[in-house]
Amino acid sequence: MTERKTLPRTERLREMDRNHVWHPFTQMKEWFSEEPLMIERGKGNYLYDTDGNKYLDAISSLWVTVHGHRKRELNQAVKEQLGKLAHSTLLGQASAPSAELASRLADITPRGLSRVFYSDSGSTAVEIALKIAYQYWTQKRGDTRREKFVSFTGAYHGDTIGSMSVGEIDAFVGRFSPLLFESLRAPYPYCYRCPVGKDRADCKLACLDELEKVLKENKGRVAACIIEPMVQGAAGMVTAPEGFLKGARRLTKKYDTLLIADEVATGFGRTGRMFACEVENVRPDIICLAKGITGGYLPLAATMTTEKIFKAFLGKYEDYKAFLHGHTYTGNPLACAAAIANLDVFENEKVIENLGPKAELFGELAKGLEDLPHVGEARTRGLMGGIELVKDKETKERYPAGERIGHKVCMDIRDDGIILRPLGDTIIVMPPLSITEGEIKKIFTSLRASIERITDL
Ligand SMILES: *Cc1c(COP(=O)(O)O)cnc(C)c1O
Repeated sequence: MTERKTLPRTERLREMDRNHVWHPFTQMKEWFSEEPLMIERGKGNYLYDTDGNKYLDAISSLWVTVHGHRKRELNQAVKEQLGKLAHSTLLGQASAPSAELASRLADITPRGLSRVFYSDSGSTAVEIALKIAYQYWTQKRGDTRREKFVSFTGAYHGDTIGSMSVGEIDAFVGRFSPLLFESLRAPYPYCYRCPVGKDRADCKLACLDELEKVLKENKGRVAACIIEPMVQGAAGMVTAPEGFLKGARRLTKKYDTLLIADEVATGFGRTGRMFACEVENVRPDIICLAKGITGGYLPLAATMTTEKIFKAFLGKYEDYKAFLHGHTYTGNPLACAAAIANLDVFENEKVIENLGPKAELFGELAKGLEDLPHVGEARTRGLMGGIELVKDKETKERYPAGERIGHKVCMDIRDDGIILRPLGDTIIVMPPLSITEGEIKKIFTSLRASIERITDL
């Protein structure tokens, strides 16, 4: 790419950012020495900074953009809604967009999920799922012993206290452990580094035996088991082998507990299906949706449950069985209007039906990187990809954290006009579903060159 010029306006904005913005998941001391992109507009699969440079948004602006930026239909829907109403509350009132969206979601999510509880982020969607699960048991059979949750190694479910409690990425939650409630842990099939020490070829999903052990030992005490179906996102796009999700569903039924599917990352087409649960025909009791729900336009989340769960919350006013939870912006009409338009585009453009060849190419090109001496594993499902870099391929030894190898690769590829963000030493590639085959090729050609440049230093 040609030499970049920094305009005075960009400098002024950077100054304001440095002086006042506290960035998420960021060591701010390092931030001060960087020259952050000052993004100001987007179009299709691209973002543009205040200096006029163009970047391919290969992480969907942190896993949210679905059909590209400034999608005509979505812009139109938000503008139209804005012409009517920006916000009204769902406390004591209903609203047109939230009613219509709930009905649409019930139509497209796995069968049985019919009730929608709105909030505004993935973390709150999970928080709500946990509270609903707990309260469900207390009201269904006066079962107050269901205070435990089962979650998986490497899980990420959000940053609030409850959602961190069922998460297990030490860098995120370790420090807060005294504040968290205890969660029972079962191994997620991170097959590249098998948590139960087996070999992929003949393991017979031994990790499920561990889940069974935990559920059996705690039978009658577990409110729910929460899982990221098919792919653990923040763990580094860890893809589960065939049969694991289905097995987890079978076991949660066998030991009489609920299954919460956290589809915050996997939902809305990312895995190649509308929802990851569809891949193995699994019907969870509760599903959590956020990120892609509005096509990446506005913050919105939905926690959906079966009718059976919902019914346990019905009763006389003075029984106090209602679910006493709610966020101020719950069911925001602008966000719901964007979400409806998002679903319309999925339908009208047959987005899922047309995803096959793109996902195949994506998977093939990612796999192709495995011939590089420092690519340990390239994992994909649909358009979710994680390229795990290792110091030593034989021993799978990781790079020292201080080397920030993943970060360096992502900084390097930026000069090629591509935005990527790593999770540790795993390079995450998660483009909008609107990515073209040509753009997919460009991402992997550039990524190969960047990895070669950085790992051969
Ligand atoms: C991103 C994510 C969350 C948290 O969502 P926020 O909107 O960032 O609160 C929860 N679960 C999964 C699987 C996610 O990927």
